[in-house]
Amino acid sequence: MTRIRIAIDGLSASGKSTLAQGLAKALNYLYIDSGAMYRAVALFALREKLVDREGRLDEAGLVASLDRVFLTFRFNPASGRGEICLNGRNVEKEIRTHEVSRCVSLIAKVGAVRDKLVKSQQQMAAAGGVVMDGRDIGTVVLPDAEVKFFMTASAEARAGRRYAELLRRGRTVSLEDVRANLAERDHIDSTREQGPLKQAEDAVVIDNSDLSIEQQFEHMMSLVQERLNG
Ligand code: C5P
Repeated sequence: MTRIRIAIDGLSASGKSTLAQGLAKALNYLYIDSGAMYRAVALFALREKLVDREGRLDEAGLVASLDRVFLTFRFNPASGRGEICLNGRNVEKEIRTHEVSRCVSLIAKVGAVRDKLVKSQQQMAAAGGVVMDGRDIGTVVLPDAEVKFFMTASAEARAGRRYAELLRRGRTVSLEDVRANLAERDHIDSTREQGPLKQAEDAVVIDNSDLSIEQQFEHMMSLVQERLNG
């Protein structure tokens, strides 16, 4: 059977990764979390002091250091997914902190960063049989993807979900900070010049403010099956 490419884009914390992972598992496809790659570059920039907590970025320094950034995904049987490694070290936990969330969109605006990551995402998807989520997957990375989704939800629903997720991980952050961070990232992501967050014309929009994960999964899976059945 043909192994297709499924692109899932959308707003921050709109539930892309949960659905992308569910679809990949059901189809026995590879799941690629492109956001994890941008987050890993942001973590690198923080560690190298190329960006500070106030969001001051040494862009030239970052661009000059990019050839020292080597990203891979390593399958973790315990989580059932590929986890991001930065220069050979698993950084899946470190990239989910609020500190990384605060600077990742600034890093993702840099053209040289996008060029490097887009190229690597295209290579990973070349053989097909992938579900990739992000912001520019259906528009830039895989414009010929066989199925494209664009996920969205109300600001309230997204902030509530992300806040609950951070609390579950034992992080101390206020709901207000989470809400402000999502709004800021969506703004920077959708107004940047290169690869902005944008719905592909041929994407199916899923507004999941009032949909359960099961409802979304069934709807998305039925569209994928339709495509697979030709
Ligand atoms: O998906 P996630 O929220 O983890 O992504 C973190 C950030 O990475 C986004 O806010 C965005 O700035 C950047 N990103 C991007 N393009 C992608 C995926 C993520 O610019 N394809």
